[in-house]
Amino acid sequence: GRANIGVVGLAVMGSNLARNLASREGNTVAVYNRTYARTEELVTEHPEAGFLASETIDDFVATLTKPRTAIIMVQAGKGTDAVIEQLAERFEPGDIIVDGGNANFNDTIRRERELRERGLNFVGTGISGGEEGALNGPSIMPGGSAEAWETLGPILKSIAAVAEGEPCVTHVGTDGAGHFVKMVHNGIEYADMQLIAEAYDLLRRVGGLSVEQLVDVFKDWNTGDLESYLIEITAEVLAQKDAETGSPLVDVILDEAGSKGTGVWTVQNALGLGIPVSGIGEAVFARAVSSKPAQRGAMRASVTNRPKPPEVPDTFVDDVRAALYASKVVAYAQGFDLIVAGAKEYGWDIDLGALAKIWRAGCIIRARFLNRIVDAYATEPDLETLLVDPYFADAVASGEEAWRRVVGIAAASGVPAPGFSSALAYFDSLAADRLPAALIQGQRDFFGAHTYKRVDKDGTFHTLWSDDRSEIATTPSTH
Ligand code: NDP
Repeated sequence: GRANIGVVGLAVMGSNLARNLASREGNTVAVYNRTYARTEELVTEHPEAGFLASETIDDFVATLTKPRTAIIMVQAGKGTDAVIEQLAERFEPGDIIVDGGNANFNDTIRRERELRERGLNFVGTGISGGEEGALNGPSIMPGGSAEAWETLGPILKSIAAVAEGEPCVTHVGTDGAGHFVKMVHNGIEYADMQLIAEAYDLLRRVGGLSVEQLVDVFKDWNTGDLESYLIEITAEVLAQKDAETGSPLVDVILDEAGSKGTGVWTVQNALGLGIPVSGIGEAVFARAVSSKPAQRGAMRASVTNRPKPPEVPDTFVDDVRAALYASKVVAYAQGFDLIVAGAKEYGWDIDLGALAKIWRAGCIIRARFLNRIVDAYATEPDLETLLVDPYFADAVASGEEAWRRVVGIAAASGVPAPGFSSALAYFDSLAADRLPAALIQGQRDFFGAHTYKRVDKDGTFHTLWSDDRSEIATTPSTH
């Protein structure tokens, strides 16, 4: 064997990752794809990469030096299982199979266990940054064993994006930890995009700004605390004119948002773990609502009397900026809560500060903001919620009045702002002295004898609702 690393699956992601690997000092990259034509095309187009191309999986495996290390970049699901099996049949104990696709972390946990039982290392890794990132430096989130990380770490560090001199890769945790945090990363991405979209919609439809003015607003926001890849590309998308009609491209794009499912996974797992990721949830639901043309058409025909946009304050643009920032803090706080809960459930030791560090470059949610999260966990690793970190608490408090004004104006004008409003509701729920959960406990006790606790003494209680309505102490209900 002569290659220290191999890539299986040479569609856009695999090709770009292979080229990235080949461009780094010391790497010789073996490449293999089920359909050989794709391999030939890559090798022909990129002679500078010095790829070792194999037509068969046997040759590919024979080309790798030990411990053999192969990164799989194929269609997630059945394709991944098929390739894993082909490699596993040929690999020997100590060799490393890496899955860089968008796998479900439950699959990664299963695959890691099965391969470990066969003496093989399996590393499921999140790779964010799209095709561009794969080629020039992605943010990389590997799971798997510490042993595999020893071999793989230096290779991944060499191809990762760099933020403030540090490569955007860290050993996130064992087995499925990498794919779990990649899932949450994508969920946060959904929330961030939804919040930006709400800001745009409010400024345009209530604030009366033109698309041209909005380009300048987003460019301006990108010089402050909101500086991020998503804000930057928002300005670029808004600035784009449609060649055919001459109108802003955004006005000719059908307003039905698609998705590939990682947002849904995030919310499903959050529901199971009991973590309120309402920002991500609203973002997933907002895309779903947008993609219901029949219902939207029926409602538009039925609701004829829409509210008139109210007068907005002169400070509206800055108010919306403050609402966006505060809502974004909430969305990230919730996402990090989900990672804490996942780590506890699945037994991962995840360093939240290290995670925030590797999201500072290479990935879709890269942002100046992430530095603040790094600082927050450096100061207090066991933060109850990001919202109580002094910097974030201040940032939210200073924008709080504006945030409330914007949510009020959105409600009064009939422009939906589910992200902004649910984020504010979450903030107010955590901040409340008392929640109406007390009433819910009363209702549950009434119809289901589910019992309740009291504020003034220990124990579990039940009111005899259908009898004389006296209260009895009970043993805790299991319902
Ligand atoms: P695709 O998801 O389109 O998958 C195509 C590749 O999978 C081809 O190489 C194809 O081989 C191979 N393949 C499919 N089924 C099999 C099989 N049964 N056996 C062997 N090979 C198979 O490629 P992408 O490059 O778009 O994505 C690769 C992975 O990266 C996916 O898991 C995707 O989810 C993830 N991804 C991640 C992104 C990110 O930003 N992190 C962005 C885009 C993708 P053949 O040529 O023979 O058909």
